[in-house]
Amino acid sequence: MPARRVRLLMMNAALGPLDYRVPDGLDVNAGAVVVAPLGPRQVLGIVWEEERLPAERIDDSRLRPLLGVCDVPPIRAELRRLIEWCADYYCAPMASVARMVIASSAALRGAATMTEYRLTGGMPERMTAKRELALAALEGEQASLRELAEMAGVSEAVLRGLVNQGALEPVEVDCDRPYPQARADYAVPELSPQQAEVAARLVEATASGGFSPFLLDGVTGSGKTETYCEAIASALEHGQQVLVLLPEIALTEAFLRRFENRFGAAPVQWHSSLKATERRRAWRAIAAGTAQVVVGARSALFLPYANLGLIVVDEAHEISFKQDDGVRYNARDVAVMRARFERIPVVLASATPALESLAMADSGVYERLVLPSRFGGAQMPAIQLIDLTEEPPERGEWIAPPLRRALFDRLEKGEQSLLFLNRRGYAPLTLCRDCGHRLQCPHCSAWMVEHRFSARLACHHCGHEMPPPKACPECGATDSLVPCGPGVERIADEVAQILPDARVTVATSDTLNSPERAAQFVAEAEHGAIDVIVGTQLVTKGFHFPELTLVGVIDADLGLEGGDLRAAERTYQQIAQVAGRAGRGAKPGEVLIQTRHPDAPVIAALAAGDRDAFYEAETEARRHAHAPPFGRWAAIIISSEDEAEARMAANRIGDTRPRLPDLQIYGPAPAPMALLRGRYRFRLLVNARRSAQLQQTIRQWIAAVQHPPGVRVGIDIDPYNF
Ligand code: ADP
Ligand code: ZN
Repeated sequence: MPARRVRLLMMNAALGPLDYRVPDGLDVNAGAVVVAPLGPRQVLGIVWEEERLPAERIDDSRLRPLLGVCDVPPIRAELRRLIEWCADYYCAPMASVARMVIASSAALRGAATMTEYRLTGGMPERMTAKRELALAALEGEQASLRELAEMAGVSEAVLRGLVNQGALEPVEVDCDRPYPQARADYAVPELSPQQAEVAARLVEATASGGFSPFLLDGVTGSGKTETYCEAIASALEHGQQVLVLLPEIALTEAFLRRFENRFGAAPVQWHSSLKATERRRAWRAIAAGTAQVVVGARSALFLPYANLGLIVVDEAHEISFKQDDGVRYNARDVAVMRARFERIPVVLASATPALESLAMADSGVYERLVLPSRFGGAQMPAIQLIDLTEEPPERGEWIAPPLRRALFDRLEKGEQSLLFLNRRGYAPLTLCRDCGHRLQCPHCSAWMVEHRFSARLACHHCGHEMPPPKACPECGATDSLVPCGPGVERIADEVAQILPDARVTVATSDTLNSPERAAQFVAEAEHGAIDVIVGTQLVTKGFHFPELTLVGVIDADLGLEGGDLRAAERTYQQIAQVAGRAGRGAKPGEVLIQTRHPDAPVIAALAAGDRDAFYEAETEARRHAHAPPFGRWAAIIISSEDEAEARMAANRIGDTRPRLPDLQIYGPAPAPMALLRGRYRFRLLVNARRSAQLQQTIRQWIAAVQHPPGVRVGIDIDPYNF
């Protein structure tokens, strides 16, 4: 009798599919997550349909037996199809996609109780510098030793020492305890007639099931969240799970509270900084179907929901939905594909939809739901330009006189202001006045950014940090290094000079770097404890501060530099979003935009509040560039720690380029970040007509070229920066 055999998708991209024998008494079907032997090791795999995963067939006699099946539900066929689709579309190994599904190894193999540690309050008998550091850093924390060691910046050995000395104690955590249950009818708000109409359509689609993609296109403050909450309630009533994707963890806090008020229980969170115990708990509850509503970053999209009934992508235009390393996917697009495989509705919500999404709505693929005005009669803010060439700020300052006056006026009235500049830190560049040397990251083609709060210089690309040097590293001159240009910290200094009595808060990923801090910021801003917020893109969306009546954009031209094809769209979205923070309560809002190019089409459209004019101009530019939705682009990025090796590899790929009528291939040329994290990068760009077999062509082309082991070749389908 032939052996019972199965084919496995291995969780390691370096391995191809492998066949195993199913020992007697073991029950495995497609989708089962299993443990298999590989040499002396034990590895994980997912049982796959043999005909969908071609591999060389080895003889029965050479098959090794599976070791066991993990105690989790099988990966459903709908999700297996999504894994296949993603691998195919994004030219990524299936294993890499599957690893995003199996995102918690503890969920598969760990015990239901895990050990974490926390401070006892006791002091170690012998104090060392490292121990002191750890004790200070771990106040109020509880996590595994490894996680605590990372938080404190010490080794696990230091922490084990503290355990032995009684300063840290173990705590058993039950990772399978259930989540509080939400109720669909907990605190139902009364919807405006416009909202009611949109909500009814979403509820109907959710109740009847079936794939239906929606573009929820509503101005800032129109109450989009309330309308999709009605659809969430409908899914809950039917016992289905809901996934809400948000672009930033900082936004999650506000959403969690709002959600809890509406449904009586907070949703389950999923993001990259969850602790191992939280990951296990969330993953298993999601797989078991007991996690009802999951709010997460893009990675939540790949989790093995037992019974998904609805997906919402809020702020769907956000570029943070695009992942730029590993599997380079766009969560907005994968969300639509997941909904298609699951046969459920998906809602893309935005006040400034991506051109691609609008095109899908125009062509009828997405159903468009519109909320044209703000909830509760709040007016859209008045927008005015400040032409910096006519009314420049004082030398060495960045806030022009009209914006100064407006800030002063709000403070007098006790209203709140928000200044937007998309640059973290104090100054983006530090320059030697004597020799002109600029402080650059040793690992990246990027300047070191001065952060005055933390008294460090940091690279925003690789995280490299150093203390500010006392002397110029090039010429040795002392007191010659000067900061050039503004970051938010510098703007906050300037505000403090103009308005010495104002309470000023800098809001960036540096200052709001934990859920607690984000929550504190939101509470302070809501209760009027802040007069002026100076923030980066982090504060442009989601927040609802009723007392905020003035928004100042420090440099509207910043995002337009560089000439990247999406620059105008991104600028439009960012400024429209930040403008949308003004005047959301009873008092009207005003927006002042500082620019040197008041006639640039995107700036003029913003000033006129003419979204259609902007989208029309942008559509023409895209058509001209054969860019989405009219054509497609892909990037091939070749990198190595050795510049010559990277260049040679890029040339080899360039020399073997396919010559096809519907594909244009440009490059190789140094990539926009020509040096990143110590790797030299070259890039080819591929522009394809819609008809072209883009992925298949690229895969075959790239696979045919051999490289030394130090060379990496990454494929980016629908890239954002080109
Ligand atoms: P958007 O997501 O479209 O920017 P929100 O959903 O945040 O808008 O709504 C803007 C504000 O109006 C929020 O404070 C929200 O609580 C309030 N709001 C919206 N709809 C209602 C409603 N039906 N009843 C009461 N308040 C509402
Ligand atoms: Zn760097």
